[in-house]
Amino acid sequence: MVTQRVCKELMENVMIIGTGCAGLTAAIYAARASLSPLVLEGSQPGGQLTMTTAVENFPGFPEGIEGPDLIIRMHEQAERFGARFEYGVLEDFEPGEQFHRLKVDGAWRETRSLIIASGASAKWLNLEGEKQLIGHGLTSCATCDGAFYKNVPVAIVGGGDSACEEALFLTRFASEVYLIHRRDTLRASHIMADRTLAHPKIQPIWNSTVQRYLSDASGEMQAVLLHNTATNTTSKLEVKCVFVAIGHTPNTGPFVGKLDLDAAGHVILRRGMQTSLPGVFAAGDVADPIYRQAITAAGQGCAAAIEVERWLTSPVSEI
Ligand code: NAP
Repeated sequence: MVTQRVCKELMENVMIIGTGCAGLTAAIYAARASLSPLVLEGSQPGGQLTMTTAVENFPGFPEGIEGPDLIIRMHEQAERFGARFEYGVLEDFEPGEQFHRLKVDGAWRETRSLIIASGASAKWLNLEGEKQLIGHGLTSCATCDGAFYKNVPVAIVGGGDSACEEALFLTRFASEVYLIHRRDTLRASHIMADRTLAHPKIQPIWNSTVQRYLSDASGEMQAVLLHNTATNTTSKLEVKCVFVAIGHTPNTGPFVGKLDLDAAGHVILRRGMQTSLPGVFAAGDVADPIYRQAITAAGQGCAAAIEVERWLTSPVSEI
């Protein structure tokens, strides 16, 4: 017998995990396909764009657009077409043949298909005392915390686009911005690297790694001990805040051991946006170790929603 997977009442047709560029674009497309997607906003609603400033490379915004504004617009657009949003953290996942089960804030939900667009989280240096210092002069978000550090020296760790973007943003507030990078050339795109290195407030510290954080008596960041790998020397740099911008780890915790992930934890895509499990698709930074751009995440979200629609409406016997 030929049946279709689209469900009218008992369980969700499609759940989307994540509300960054990928999840919201998937929500727009799935909603416009009348699938009434349920979109789960996790611990960081809006994803990484909510922690950034001007987005200058998203097509359609020649003057640039603030990351949070772009997310708000996408959210409104998805709601306009009937996407439903819920706050909740995905705790567990049980794949099934006919449907999948998701444990969200202690309660199990059922869905016929799933789009994983849970993004990626900031990496830390894993140094002693790091956890205690977060929020006390150690952060991964210049946009969120930069304004607290007016007219004082701060440091950024990293040499990619994020580090450059954050360094440039911090020049609005800090007296000096030290850019600590473990090599002597930046990984960032030429335009970002040139702009960063030309800024009079930004001072690169090449071939250097942070060996230790030094805090004052009240537990606030006071300085970092740097190791210069070229000269094998150690020095102390006094800063009031350290911004760590060394990349991200994909948010795939609940899926470990249940679908195929690469060594770094990204969801491995088989064909298009299809994961190793039927009916489970992925989009954006959670499945993309290569491009990791807002626009590619949006494109993948669109593709995932189109594939979900085809999956749900294709005769079961044909799959
Ligand atoms: P990234 O490109 O992976 O760069 C990470 C940087 O951190 C690298 O310079 C790396 O050093 C350094 N690093 C990594 N682990 C380290 C460690 N344990 N200790 C010290 N340094 C470490 O990450 P990203 O800058 O977050 O960028 C991610 C993606 O987003 C990229 O594709 C980027 O183009 C994109 N992005 C784009 C924009 C934009 O277009 N406006 C803005 C932000 C991000 P090495 O260079 O030595 O590996």
